Amino acid sequence: MSNGESAERLDFIRQIVAEDCETGKWDGRVVTRFPPEPNGYLHIGHAKSICLNFGIAAEFGGRCHLRFDDTNPTKEEEEYVESIKNNVQWLGWDWGEHLYFGSDYFKQMYEWAVQLIKAGKAYVCDLTAEQTREYRGTLTEPGKESPYRNRGIEENLDLFERMRNGEFPDGSRTLRAKIDMAHPNLNMRDPVMYRILHALHHRTGDAWCIYPMYDWAHGLEDSIENITHSICTLEFENHRPLYDWFLDQLGIYHPQQIEFARLNLTYTVMSKRKLLRLVQDGHVNGWDDPRMPTISGMRRRGYSPAAIREFCRIIGVNKFNSTVDFQLLEHCLRQDLNKTSPRVMAVLRPLKVVITNYPDGQTEQMEAINNPENESAGTRKVPFSKELYIEQDDFMENPPKKFFRLAPGREVRLRYAYFITCTDVIKDREGNVIELRCTYDPATKGGDAPDGRKVKATLHWVSAAHVLDTEVRLYDHLFTQENPDQVEEGQDFTVHLNPNSLEVLTGCKVEPSLQNAEEMSRYQFERLGYFCVDPDSSSERMIFNRTVTLRDTWAKEQQKQKS
Ligand code: ATP
Ligand code: MG
Repeated sequence: MSNGESAERLDFIRQIVAEDCETGKWDGRVVTRFPPEPNGYLHIGHAKSICLNFGIAAEFGGRCHLRFDDTNPTKEEEEYVESIKNNVQWLGWDWGEHLYFGSDYFKQMYEWAVQLIKAGKAYVCDLTAEQTREYRGTLTEPGKESPYRNRGIEENLDLFERMRNGEFPDGSRTLRAKIDMAHPNLNMRDPVMYRILHALHHRTGDAWCIYPMYDWAHGLEDSIENITHSICTLEFENHRPLYDWFLDQLGIYHPQQIEFARLNLTYTVMSKRKLLRLVQDGHVNGWDDPRMPTISGMRRRGYSPAAIREFCRIIGVNKFNSTVDFQLLEHCLRQDLNKTSPRVMAVLRPLKVVITNYPDGQTEQMEAINNPENESAGTRKVPFSKELYIEQDDFMENPPKKFFRLAPGREVRLRYAYFITCTDVIKDREGNVIELRCTYDPATKGGDAPDGRKVKATLHWVSAAHVLDTEVRLYDHLFTQENPDQVEEGQDFTVHLNPNSLEVLTGCKVEPSLQNAEEMSRYQFERLGYFCVDPDSSSERMIFNRTVTLRDTWAKEQQKQKS
């Protein structure tokens, strides 16, 4: 594709950063952060944010913090922290010594809350969560002031301290900012800053029983870490006035919040809540199921970090929500795997072929090219013998006009080996083809006929005596609908789950060079797609995941549109 032109132009966020560097707005500093909440595994949408934040830091000589926004104890776990660190590193980014946890700032946040109370800018409210919602009003109606809004400062200080000391049950009180209940922006209608929650936190244990809300905590975290550009997704645009308000009231260091459109992908759900549902309800085999749009799942599926980074570069960033075609992601993947994956031969649905005129017991080592895209990858030897397997699909007893592969009486090429001609078709009692008898032409060794005669098809094959038996897992989209979030009333996204998203093939045959293939290593199985070794493989049972097929529908589409 020609992404050249548009991708080289700076996106609107990089323009802001470049300008700030020029004007010296932040004394030339560039400090960004990636701030996940450790309540699930990262997905491809997070990769966009990671590549943006770490990418900008790298390009402008700044730094990017990895900060866990761990302010909600009930949903957060250490497992998620570890997986997130792992994923960011795997994608190729390095936070150096800048690993932070929002929970490390709880004490400072508490002190700042006290400061706001003292300034008459925050109050303890006794309304229940439901009442608070009711009092809030709507887009068209102003809210109602809480009856607790005008409590005296001393009483507020006393109550807040007692909240912190655990004197009150969950949900009985909150600390709220005192802004404006008639504000046109609902986020500014006395938002809750703290709630009471007697819950164990994965890092602070039972040290706290009040926990800060996102809007209160996030700006403070940014401020403490001296972030320059606080980049977040568009849904926080109308939270920005509140972000600014808190920092201005406190009079502390004030980063700039900038919003960009989140990534949406066709055939994909991209919310941690929904992904958690898929895991918990057993629709997939865990967060790293190769069908999941999680970084861990994509990794296991065989995606390379380079492919994901390139995808993030090509989609760029802008201010408008849209949905990216999944085929573009696969296009980036194919581009990378094509360059980097060694070719091998494997047969997924084997059909036995006996070469009747080939000497019994003889084996020849055929020279095969490891990667036509990369000469330095060299060649390897593939054994050839009397009994082979080809793909069931590559034979038809009564071929239609456009079928050029093997058929009775027809000659085809076996890649890197010989021309063969089908002479007999052996069937079982039910009439299924179970074996082919063929003859070979010894003069065609290597795959070319000295007399210049042509064949219309080249098939891949493996030698029956030399193969490794393996399991192969083929995948399709997890959902049958482009937009799985679009559902009829009373339904949810799981109605669009694709019952055929996983197909397990056993008894697949791969060439012996794969004997010692390492976990997660990637190959192109000739004519079948890109595959990688699943981590559940053992020396007795190898398992391959098909990462993606060979057919680049996206590139074809682009071609068509151009011509
Ligand atoms: P989800 O909506 O999937 O639960 P989240 O926003 O709640 O995601 P966080 O852990 O808060 O998850 O996200 C960390 C960072 O990743 C945030 O800055 C968020 O804006 C960004 N992010 C999350 N989803 C996407 C997405 N689809 N595209 C781009 N950035 C995203
Ligand atoms: Mg979030």
